[in-house]
Amino acid sequence: MTKRDYYEILGVPRNAGEAEIKKAYRQMALKFHPDKNPGNKEAEDKFKEAAEAYEVLSNPDKRSRYDQFGHDGLRNGGGNQGYGGGMSMDDIFSQFGDIFGNAFGGGFGGFSSGGGSRRRVNKGTNLRVKVKLSLEEIATGVEKKIKVNKLVSCNTCNGSGAAGGSAFSTCSHCRGTGQVTRVTSTFLGQMQTTSTCPYCNGEGQSITNKCDSCGGSGTVKGEEVISLNIPAGVSEGIQLSVGGKGNAAPRGGVPGDLIIQIEETPHPELVRDGTNILYEHYISFPEATLGTSIEVPTIEGKVRIKIEAGTQGGKVLRLKGKGIPSLNGYGRGDQLINISVWTPRNLNRQEQDLMESLLNSDNFKPHPGAKDRSFFDRMKEYFQ
Ligand SMILES: [Zn+2]
Ligand SMILES: [Zn+2]
Repeated sequence: MTKRDYYEILGVPRNAGEAEIKKAYRQMALKFHPDKNPGNKEAEDKFKEAAEAYEVLSNPDKRSRYDQFGHDGLRNGGGNQGYGGGMSMDDIFSQFGDIFGNAFGGGFGGFSSGGGSRRRVNKGTNLRVKVKLSLEEIATGVEKKIKVNKLVSCNTCNGSGAAGGSAFSTCSHCRGTGQVTRVTSTFLGQMQTTSTCPYCNGEGQSITNKCDSCGGSGTVKGEEVISLNIPAGVSEGIQLSVGGKGNAAPRGGVPGDLIIQIEETPHPELVRDGTNILYEHYISFPEATLGTSIEVPTIEGKVRIKIEAGTQGGKVLRLKGKGIPSLNGYGRGDQLINISVWTPRNLNRQEQDLMESLLNSDNFKPHPGAKDRSFFDRMKEYFQ
């Protein structure tokens, strides 16, 4: 079937302006609309023909190709949007929001809007918040309430961005699909590329009357108190994501996420090492020799432990299960207490004499046995 000339179909001159073409198509569409001509195949063909003509002539890009190359200029695109098969009814109806405005809505049936699936859904941006936690909070897990400054949905327009929440029109550049197709001539032939419609940012519709409160964005600055359940065992640098608690999306899309970045507040005495807690305690030389009991801080409070007589410096005592739970829920680390023996730097005359009298005592000469495990053994155990 040979195609008729698009200008002839709409009955407009070749130099017709945008408004003239639109008006001509509107008249054709009203005259040949299937609802007005039920069962009339000829009317349906004319209806489709007019829609196809309008589709091309209303698009400056397509129109110029048509003017230069005729129907062939549109057919050689190589993409899946060739014009060989004409337009589907869905495509045609999706033009109507543009042509007839909302006033036309409901007058005719069949207004399923084509191309909806390709329309972009706006997503709000993610928000990043740092949360400082003490070692105690990390050990038990904690519920934190934080106040976040963020974009929230505009109450006036219900987040739609449109005054009264309903002043929309289908984007005339992409006909509501949110995408535009460009054909460029290259030395290899014509290339067709599809990209997001720049006029509506892929939303497929534009607002005719913007909401005063938000200026059409659908979002306003606000704040929200958000309750966070932080699990035990988190560590510095870990990020937790709370879905949907980020910035509200422009014009009623999906909100972004809230990204929580964990920071550890250093403990004054205890040092965290993975799931273990390290603590260094100095005892005096006489204490190491005679034995003593010391008070040690843990994340659960103070604990008193016994130091055996004859304890060597560098001995590591282990408080089982007094460490940090692992984040994945399996087990819990220990607290390791490194015992150091304080060697005095200044002695008075009397002490000096005392030390010298001990110098040649056999008991004071180092003779490590099997139970005094070496530094290397302790390291091996520690790094297991
Ligand atoms: Zn558009
Ligand atoms: Zn608003």
